Amino acid sequence: MAPSVAIAITLHPSHPIMTGLLEWFDQNARPLPWRVQKVTPWESLLAEIILQQTRMETGLPYWERIRKAYPTPAALAADTEENLLLLWQGCGYYARARNLYKLAICLEGADLPHSYDALLQLPGIGPYTAAAIASMAFGEAVACVDGNVRRVISRLRAEHLTESELQHEATALLNHQRPGDWNQAMMEIGSLVCTPRKPNCSHCPLQSKCNAATSSNPEQWPLKRSTKQVHVNATVLVVSGKGGFLLEARQGRTLGGLWGLPYAEGEVEITNLLRGRDASQIGQVKHDFTHKRFNITVYKSKSNSDDILRQPDSVPLATLDRKILNLHKEYQSEQS
Ligand code: SF4
Repeated sequence: MAPSVAIAITLHPSHPIMTGLLEWFDQNARPLPWRVQKVTPWESLLAEIILQQTRMETGLPYWERIRKAYPTPAALAADTEENLLLLWQGCGYYARARNLYKLAICLEGADLPHSYDALLQLPGIGPYTAAAIASMAFGEAVACVDGNVRRVISRLRAEHLTESELQHEATALLNHQRPGDWNQAMMEIGSLVCTPRKPNCSHCPLQSKCNAATSSNPEQWPLKRSTKQVHVNATVLVVSGKGGFLLEARQGRTLGGLWGLPYAEGEVEITNLLRGRDASQIGQVKHDFTHKRFNITVYKSKSNSDDILRQPDSVPLATLDRKILNLHKEYQSEQS
């Protein structure tokens, strides 16, 4: 579909919407670590990847920990994926960590490339991340569109826009003198002022140019994305002994690369999981991923001589498995 006609905003960098937003940003931006100290492009990339799908308060300690452990892509490439996952455990969306490791290997000791086009070729780097790094770390005039920018632009236009229309609008608005700051300002105004619920229009530097601000309900833009969850019933078996727990290497996109307790979905698989074990049920655990809600029945059993046991702290484990181990610990202490 051809991009729609842009809003009536001139692209001159001294236009009030441009200067107004940047002035607001200069005075109101949160003092995030990469704004109050000099960071390398690699550290910016780590922040972008971690914070894209993890809340700021949760993600910041991960960023600190991972950038200290791996100050360059070469340092990460020299280590193992499993050690990166050990540092990443609890942060979720583990495909990000696996792709980050692939990216470090793919650079073969070199630093990050400087252009949007070259960044986009790297594993795990999509248009948003490439634009964020190219503009913030290297000053290239490319516009970022994330969820915040989507919301701000949709409300400025008071329209439900397609992805290509949003990218077109973001590019048209971009300040070419300070593209990195402009992109951050758009995201910051979306985080702090033009929030999903109750946008604070009376304190917004974009108010005079915003079509939604004159409507009775600015929240109606943009269209909500469907977050329908699939419900999954599964069983997990906690096999324990003196050496620790029976843990398996997980496969698949969601938790691949991590270790976890023996797990099964489906009648036949669950029967196979429990076969030959003197297993007893100890409780239920619920756990949400973005599109899946797991209802897990937890069994416990003592290990036998064939089981290879590991200490949970020696391998990267998902939050779900830690939750189940906590349930098991509580159950054991209640019984003793
Ligand atoms: Fe969002 Fe209101 Fe600002 Fe428009 S005026 S961008 S709706 S906060």
